[in-house]
Amino acid sequence: MLKVFGGMMAALLLAGLVALLLGHYDTTLLRVQRGGDSTNAGSSSLSPSPGPLPDNIFWFVQVSDLHISRFLDPTRAPDFEKFCSETISVIKPDLVLVTGDLTDAKTRNKVGSRQYEVEWQTYQGILKRSRVLEKTKWIDIRGNHGK
Ligand SMILES: [Zn+2]
Repeated sequence: MLKVFGGMMAALLLAGLVALLLGHYDTTLLRVQRGGDSTNAGSSSLSPSPGPLPDNIFWFVQVSDLHISRFLDPTRAPDFEKFCSETISVIKPDLVLVTGDLTDAKTRNKVGSRQYEVEWQTYQGILKRSRVLEKTKWIDIRGNHGK
């Protein structure tokens, strides 16, 4: 008996949820139709807030502290290359912001610090091979640690 009652409650809850969802989509649909029928049909794209259509929205990606290194963590460069060639194509951001410490610039013993051209060449090579600059806008922000 309790099981039947529980089942009925679940069914009622489900019905309630479906009704709520349908109600939501109905009003959304009405708003879209009204917008489409009126003379200022394109007004939603002038509004500063996102509307029911995905036409007034953009997204960007920030990556930071890549620390591409000639001495440490050899997986960083291939990971970053995969990110550029595969992940960015899925996310499709309007902009990628790469902030600070693009390369590691640390000596082998991790105590000293200097710029190694080979680390920057690795970074440039990844951008070139992945052709990520053709997929999105790309901004490097300076701030690599020096001495
Ligand atoms: Zn850092």
